[in-house]
Amino acid sequence: MSVHHLNCGSLRPVGGFGGKMAPTRVVCHVLVVERADGLLLVDTGFGTADIAEPTRLGRPFVAGMRPKLDVEESAISQLKALGYAASDVRDIALTHMDLDHAGGIGDFPQAQVHVDVVELDAARNPKLSERSRYRKVQWSHGPEFVTHQSGGDDWFGFSGVKALGDDVLLIPLRGHSRGHSGVAVRDGDRWLLHAGDSYFFHGEVETPARTAPGLTGFQTLMAADNRARKENQERLRSLVADHPEVVLFSAHDEVEFSRLS
Ligand SMILES: [Zn+2]
Repeated sequence: MSVHHLNCGSLRPVGGFGGKMAPTRVVCHVLVVERADGLLLVDTGFGTADIAEPTRLGRPFVAGMRPKLDVEESAISQLKALGYAASDVRDIALTHMDLDHAGGIGDFPQAQVHVDVVELDAARNPKLSERSRYRKVQWSHGPEFVTHQSGGDDWFGFSGVKALGDDVLLIPLRGHSRGHSGVAVRDGDRWLLHAGDSYFFHGEVETPARTAPGLTGFQTLMAADNRARKENQERLRSLVADHPEVVLFSAHDEVEFSRLS
């Protein structure tokens, strides 16, 4: 099995998330996993329709996060450059359905989209405070969603894990959004864990943890459940310290992306 790491959306948030202890350049880290029955994507970044029509993302997001919106960065363009067609993507697993993660699903209309049932419900029935993060237009083409309830398995101390085949796991990592999850992919004798937006800066999962107040403030503001977010961030920090066989990365950290890609 081989895995590619793609950046499917560069962002330049105003203020850089708060200085030196925070990323200034921000990526949208997408995994492409070659499996026996086709490709699996983990997250999708922005789609070609978002890039053609940025109002789909909402003006506050575009003004505050300043996405590059370059069609060359879309997952579909990068997959074509690798010699694949859209129809080669059989499955997409989403860490959550925020607009910078779910935008690309429209470029792969025949793929099954795997998502935690709690997250799909949040995206379809957002509270007032959630309305700007989820953009229904990104799934107005009617993709085939496959929802997953947290399962009964444990994985390195994380509970409620649900297997999507032998080699891919959906791991509840609540906090950033209501049904936020990590996606673990087996890669030989190690695991890659895409932790979505459980943290934003690699220093947050180092020991001792380091971060910038501005970045903590941003994550607190965005969190659906801030206590769960902080607990899960601490769990991930312990995972990194105790288990070198797990390679952890977040969706937006450019340093982690450069290390892996
Ligand atoms: Zn995000």
